[in-house]
Amino acid sequence: MDRIVARDLVVFANHGVFPEEKTLGQKFLIDIDLGLDCQEAAIKEDLTKSVHYGDLAHGVKKVFTDKSHDLIESASEEVAQYILRTYPLVNEVRLRVKKPWAPVGLDLDTVYIEIKRKRHRALISLGSNMGDKKSNLDKAISLIEDDYTKIKKKSSYYETKAWGKEDQDDFLNAGVEISTFYTPHNLLAHLQGIENTMGRVRKEARGPRNIDIDIILIDDLVINTQRLSLPHPYMRERAFVLEPLKEIAPKYVDPISHKTIEQLLRDLNSN
Ligand code: ADP
Ligand code: MG
Repeated sequence: MDRIVARDLVVFANHGVFPEEKTLGQKFLIDIDLGLDCQEAAIKEDLTKSVHYGDLAHGVKKVFTDKSHDLIESASEEVAQYILRTYPLVNEVRLRVKKPWAPVGLDLDTVYIEIKRKRHRALISLGSNMGDKKSNLDKAISLIEDDYTKIKKKSSYYETKAWGKEDQDDFLNAGVEISTFYTPHNLLAHLQGIENTMGRVRKEARGPRNIDIDIILIDDLVINTQRLSLPHPYMRERAFVLEPLKEIAPKYVDPISHKTIEQLLRDLNSN
């Protein structure tokens, strides 16, 4: 990945938890580091295929000073989101926000925070087998979109037999492809928030539920933490997951088996 870097942009703003920081304000220094591919811009000598760093610096200054935040974490998050939203060519933003005059009553050279945010492509699987299943899926999908997340593609709805625990009502399943600026764990938190808003009750594993939202894949990430496993560990065994996703993303490659969704479904159906 190529990078465009702007260092020590000086911006005067009123962020901080101390009252004097809010009233008097102070200088911040911002380092902006963008990951993108600028070869096409280079070959065609076309600035529209890259990022105009003058515009970038002015935009960042405006967003950073628009409102006063207690935390520079929050001010920085807004700047990172602004850059990813404004420049579709940028895949990754690293920001360092320095507070060289932090009022801590000691001789301190500088304090800074650094964040890294990315544009992720992800596949999500949804299922419902209680109540009005279609409207449960409609509602969950509409709630997935927020400031950080856009739906790119949405599959049809598929009626499927319950899996794992068969003495329950049929399911209605769907898949969506999203583009999101959430980190993987915050995407999970966002989706679990939707399950909670919709009053999901977790009675028993694999039992009936009005809504289940699982992350199947994010980019080519492999993650195994207590809260999150990616790719979803059962995706290769579940036609109700693969079928809807094949409709919208047949060529997406599973980073573990190196097979496409299409191939995984074919393998599963031939077993
Ligand atoms: P299931 O989807 O297996 O029927 P739940 O929806 O109740 O069960 O999820 C159980 C736990 O699975 C959640 O607490 C969540 O932290 C964890 N989990 C791990 N990986 C994933 C993933 N890829 N997508 C969604 N949840 C996951
Ligand atoms: Mg789940």
